Amino acid sequence: GSFMEGTEQAPPDPILGVSDAFKASTSPDKLNLGVGAYRTEELQPYVLEVVKKAEAIMMEKAENKEYLPIDGLPAFKKCTAELLLGADSSIIAENKIATLQSLSGTGSLRIGAAYINAWLPGKTVYLSNPTWGNHKNIFADAGVEWKMYRYFDPETVGLDFAGMMEDIKGAPDGSIIVLHGCAHNPTGVDPTKEQWEEIASLCQEKGHLPFFDVAYQGFASGSLEEDAFAPRMFAEKGLEFLCSQSYSKNLGLYGERVGAINAVVNDAAVATRVASQMKRQARAMYSNPPVHGARIVSEVVGDEDMFNEWKAEMEMMSGRIKSVRGKLYDYLCEKMPEKDWSFVTRQIGMFSFTGLTPAQVENMTNKWEVYMTKDGRISLAGLSAAKAEYLADAIVDSIK
Ligand code: PMP
Repeated sequence: GSFMEGTEQAPPDPILGVSDAFKASTSPDKLNLGVGAYRTEELQPYVLEVVKKAEAIMMEKAENKEYLPIDGLPAFKKCTAELLLGADSSIIAENKIATLQSLSGTGSLRIGAAYINAWLPGKTVYLSNPTWGNHKNIFADAGVEWKMYRYFDPETVGLDFAGMMEDIKGAPDGSIIVLHGCAHNPTGVDPTKEQWEEIASLCQEKGHLPFFDVAYQGFASGSLEEDAFAPRMFAEKGLEFLCSQSYSKNLGLYGERVGAINAVVNDAAVATRVASQMKRQARAMYSNPPVHGARIVSEVVGDEDMFNEWKAEMEMMSGRIKSVRGKLYDYLCEKMPEKDWSFVTRQIGMFSFTGLTPAQVENMTNKWEVYMTKDGRISLAGLSAAKAEYLADAIVDSIK
């Protein structure tokens, strides 16, 4: 027998497991709408031109592969804080922000969770219902208790704003509220600017600490500024908050694992202490973050021409998603005009929450070879204009 005999088989990951099932299928019709990764119209992975350009410059520089500091590449830390709050932010000028480069969005959230567990003990984290499935894993893994607040209303396929406000109000004063900065995953439903203002005021009133998860800045609207509206407005109102960032989607650096965790605080001395504790957490978990992707971000953001090129490519990517969204909507209306499909084009970002039940999702996959998560979420980044009608047929057949 093995020393590890008693190990139980873990279930497949609900999101990444979909990709495994897709790969295993031999059908020529198969469509992978599970994982949120951008694909070209030919449904191929895409490396941004500006990333290739930055990498060519990096090759020429032939920098060494020495370890980064525990909290990451200094040039990257500067860029990432400025992308979040704006280059002219007084918070940055006054050093009221702690920034630590970490392992993309996931690792950054995990460091934030570890920080909460160590230094804000007993605080409960509130997650939107539903939310990105890994949020629960991450906080639970760090030993942080989580609960949910109402967010999505299946009736309207929109935001349950009243329920959300009621639950945030009902949470004990000084709770931690996780908010998706933009392009809510999995629903694609975001608060309006007016609603964000109300959420900010309520958090202020209740002494809550918001924790923004910014995984799609620039990818939702195509504009870095527009997509940072909520955290920037919270900062302007003087709220303190945590914020994780990811460069997986907006710069297509998925496998490079580039991101950051930030703490925006009202006292520079506190920022210094928080940064020191986050470094300690990172040291124990993985010592220091990867250098390659951080250099890419710094090269791109640090050069005006490349920065503009990046913005154009983000617009191109978010534009392609908006365009297939529109095509899918048109086909759905044509094939099932009795149903209101307006939610499809109202939703923002990479995903559409279709409202399909688990049994209907099973039909999508078994009969139509459309691979998607059980919650009814589809990634429009994995859809091409050429396949939009096929997908509409599959959806209409599944709900009939
Ligand atoms: N948060 C949300 C809401 C996400 O959708 C994702 C990506 N699926 C992440 C965080 C983190 O992704 P990554 O670790 O690749 O940056």
